[in-house]
Amino acid sequence: MSERAYQRCIQPTCGGTLAVDDTRFTCPRCGGLVDVVYDWSRLTVPDSLRFFESRWSERYDPLSWSGVWRFRELLPFAEPRWVMTIGEGQTILQRADGLCSYVDLSRGCLFLQYEGMNPSGSFKDNGMTAAFTHARLVGAQRAACASTGNTSASLAVFCSATGLMRAIIFIGSGKIAYGKLAQALDHGALTIQITGDFDDAMQRVQQVSRQLGIYLVNSINPFRLEGQKTIMYRVLEGLRWEVPDWVIVPGGNLGNVSAFGKAFYELRQLGLISRLPRLAVINATGANTLYQLYEQQGVRWQGGAWPRQQVERFFAEMQAHHRRASTIASAIEINHPVNLPKALRALEWCNGVVREVTDQEILDAKAQVGAHGLGCEPASAASVAGLKRLRQEGIVGQEERVVCVLTGHQLKDPTATVAYHSTDPQMFEEVLGKRGVRRPTFANRAVQVPNDLNEIIKAIELYA
Ligand SMILES: *Cc1c(COP(=O)(O)O)cnc(C)c1O
Ligand SMILES: [Zn+2]
Repeated sequence: MSERAYQRCIQPTCGGTLAVDDTRFTCPRCGGLVDVVYDWSRLTVPDSLRFFESRWSERYDPLSWSGVWRFRELLPFAEPRWVMTIGEGQTILQRADGLCSYVDLSRGCLFLQYEGMNPSGSFKDNGMTAAFTHARLVGAQRAACASTGNTSASLAVFCSATGLMRAIIFIGSGKIAYGKLAQALDHGALTIQITGDFDDAMQRVQQVSRQLGIYLVNSINPFRLEGQKTIMYRVLEGLRWEVPDWVIVPGGNLGNVSAFGKAFYELRQLGLISRLPRLAVINATGANTLYQLYEQQGVRWQGGAWPRQQVERFFAEMQAHHRRASTIASAIEINHPVNLPKALRALEWCNGVVREVTDQEILDAKAQVGAHGLGCEPASAASVAGLKRLRQEGIVGQEERVVCVLTGHQLKDPTATVAYHSTDPQMFEEVLGKRGVRRPTFANRAVQVPNDLNEIIKAIELYA
C-alpha cells in the first residue's frame, strides 16, 4: 500500500490490508481485527504537542472547537471537508483531591477524565464522530450497532443531528439503562430489541450489516478507535503534556483500552512523548473475560503470537456452561469483547494490569465520585473502584499520578443510583440485592417527614 492512510491486520505476520474506504473492517486474509495505519513520513505532524494549544483560539472553526478534530494531524485518515462533528470531546481532566483519601492516594495525584460531558453523555461520541466522518467518505446511508446503550445513544444523536444516515440499533432484552433507551427513542433510531443479551446482539448486527451493506459503528470499526485516541491527548493536555504514571479505564468491548494504547504508542513513535503510562483495565466480576484470560490464565499478546487456541477454548467452555455476563454496570456487561487481541496488545505496550471489582465496590465508588462533584454511571466508577484495589495491593504507589476515565454520565442509569440510596427495601433487593450488593455504604437516604412545619424544622436541624 502506498497510501497515506489505510487499514492493516493487527497480526504482524499476516500482512492483510484494506483501503481506507473499505467498510469490511476485518482482515481479508485471516478475518482478524484491523488498525488504521498511517505513513507518517508522507504526512505533516507537529513537532510538539503544544502546537495543539493554538487551536483553542480558533473556536469559530468547528474542527478546532471539537475535542477530537483539533488533534486532526494525529488521526489523518480523511480530508477536513469530510469531517462530521457535533462538538464532541469538550471534556477536561479534573483534579480530584476530594477522592484521594477514599482511594488512598496522596493529594494532587488523582485526576478524573470526565467523558460524561459529551453531547450524548458518554465517551462514545469521540469515536462516533470519526466513524461518521469515515461513513461520509464512503457515502454510507444507514448505520447500525449492537449496544449496551451508549453506542446506540451516540449513533442516534449523530444521525439526528447531522441527517447523514438512518440509525439502526440492536439491543438485548431488558438489558439497557433507561437514560440510554430514552435517547435512542427520542432521537428517532430504529430500535430492534432481540431476545438475548449484548453478545447475541453483537453477532446479529455483524451478520445483518454484512448482508444488507449497512455501515457498522461498533468498536470493531477501527475508525471509531481513532477518535477515542483523543481522550488521551486531552489527558496529556490536562497534565501540561506530561505522561501520567497510570491510566485506569473500565473494560467492556475493550475499544477504549485499545485506542489508548495505540494513542500512546503512536505518540512515542512520533517522538512526541518519551515514555508510555501504565494501563489498568477494570472488569466487573460478573463480566470478567479479560481478567480471567490475562491475570488468571496468563494470556499475553507476545508480539502477535497470542495463544489463540487457549482463548478459543475459554469461549467454548463459556458457551457450553451458558455463562452470561451479569453486572449492574451494564455498559461493561460483556463476556465476548470484540477487541480482545487489540487490548492484549495495548496491555503489552503499556505494561498493563487487569482487575475485577464487584458491583458493591462499583456502586460505593460511584457514590464517592458523586459526593465529590462528578456524576457518573456505574460502569465508569469501576475505574475508581479498581484504583482502590490496586492501591490496597500496592501495585499503584501512593505518590503516583493516576488518571481514571469516567466514561459516562450519571443520568444514563438513574435506576441504579436511586436503588442504592433508596429507603425502599424492595427496590434495593430487586435492583441490587439480587446482584450480591449487601450494604450501600454511602447511601444518602431521603428523610420522611410529616407535612408539619415544626417536624420539618426539627429534621433539618437534626441532619444538616
Ligand atoms: C462503552 C462503555 C464502556 C466500555 O468501553 P469499551 O471501550 O467497550 O471497553 C464503559 N463505560 C461506558 C459508560 C460505556 O459507554
Ligand atoms: Zn490478517
